Amino acid sequence: MRTDYEYIVVGLGGIGSAAAYRLARRAGSDVLGLEQFELGHDNGASQDHSRIVRLSYHAPAYVRLAKGAFAAWRDLEEDSGRDLLVTTGGLDLSPAGTGEDLSIYTSSLEEEAVPFELMDAYEVMRRWPQFRLSEDVTGLFQEDAGIAPAALCNATHAELARRHGATLLERKPVTSIAVSDGELEVAAGDTRFRGRKLIVAADAWTNEVLAPLGARLPLRVTQEQVTYFRAPSDEFGPERMPVWIWLGDPCFYGIPVFGEAGIKIGQDVGGAEVTARSRTFDIDEAALKRVAGFASEHLPGAAGDIIRTKTCLYTMPPDRDFVLDQVPGRPGVYVAQGAAHGYKFAAVFGKILAELAVDGRTEHDLSPFGFDRKFEPALF
Ligand SMILES: Cc1cc2nc3c(=O)[nH]c(=O)nc-3n(C[C@H](O)[C@H](O)[C@H](O)COP(=O)(O)OP(=O)(O)OC[C@H]3O[C@@H](n4cnc5c(N)ncnc54)[C@H](O)[C@@H]3O)c2cc1C
Repeated sequence: MRTDYEYIVVGLGGIGSAAAYRLARRAGSDVLGLEQFELGHDNGASQDHSRIVRLSYHAPAYVRLAKGAFAAWRDLEEDSGRDLLVTTGGLDLSPAGTGEDLSIYTSSLEEEAVPFELMDAYEVMRRWPQFRLSEDVTGLFQEDAGIAPAALCNATHAELARRHGATLLERKPVTSIAVSDGELEVAAGDTRFRGRKLIVAADAWTNEVLAPLGARLPLRVTQEQVTYFRAPSDEFGPERMPVWIWLGDPCFYGIPVFGEAGIKIGQDVGGAEVTARSRTFDIDEAALKRVAGFASEHLPGAAGDIIRTKTCLYTMPPDRDFVLDQVPGRPGVYVAQGAAHGYKFAAVFGKILAELAVDGRTEHDLSPFGFDRKFEPALF
């Protein structure tokens, strides 16, 4: 087995498979990807029918990066010959009192010259009668939003990485990383690989992977869940209904009928703190009740049968900003951490990570995403 590579990626979930793909486009067979489970497994954060993609964000840096993400997804579509993103438009809903201040979204969009519409609850319900809202709710509609079919996108990144020459190995848990003679030695099972540049895209396992290098991020892991509620696709399908986020406290989000015979609803940070090893796949009944309550109040046409509830992990620094940086004091070792809203950026993360590893630089502004920054409490 070949054990010497220029570039090694640890973790082949949403972000790692994108990094392996982008590296393989630049360096072909000099790329190795190592995944502790099988490709497409369900133990991490990226494997479901759908993830929301959107330009609407609370800070201009995110809007800019989201534009780059859309371009990178389109690039993947072109290279694979596969249509991936489904455009639905996106609705941010903010209830007065407990809701987030939409002006941080509108000013960020204005700064980046992205068009949007602000509307009252009556206009939201006129255009999307699936919603039942009280009059204190304000809506922000932005048309460049929709669905990334996550499982298919991950498989496409991995398939194309291989087609461009990368070696992707499954069931290869990385157990140690050492620097020897200026090179990196990565142990996975009983094999030792050598490489010059390393990308760590291990999400809930990030600190385990980094521990041998003496590096650590202040990450919190929670066990989250999403529920699919049966709904008629003519009324609740992606042609008729946008992806949406309820920017209240608690915060909920949802996706029209896609991949299952029903809409998907989740609560943002609605689950208990766990670790990647202590998590279970058990359903949190209290969290399910909150989501079902939200559905019956605001989406009454889809508040009936539950098709299934699926658990998943959130991994977040305190400020919920990404980490996309070189590990301090470890030249050639890079970390990508998606702060539990990073899927939509996976394609551009892959591009940026490949640029950092190959060129040592990227044109994207990564200053908000430093490893060594002061981590303040989240703004959202
Ligand atoms: C319920 C839910 C809903 C979400 N909704 C959205 C959304 O709508 N839009 C959005 O943008 N984001 C969303 N997110 C967040 C987004 O999904 C994550 O930020 C993103 O998927 C993280 O990707 P990742 O590749 O870092 O993590 P993962 O997909 O978990 O990949 C990490 C990989 O590293 C591997 N690994 C770890 N340790 C090792 C090791 N030692 N050796 C080898 N391999 C290792 C793991 O097995 C895993 O495959 C959601 C998350 C959840 C849980």
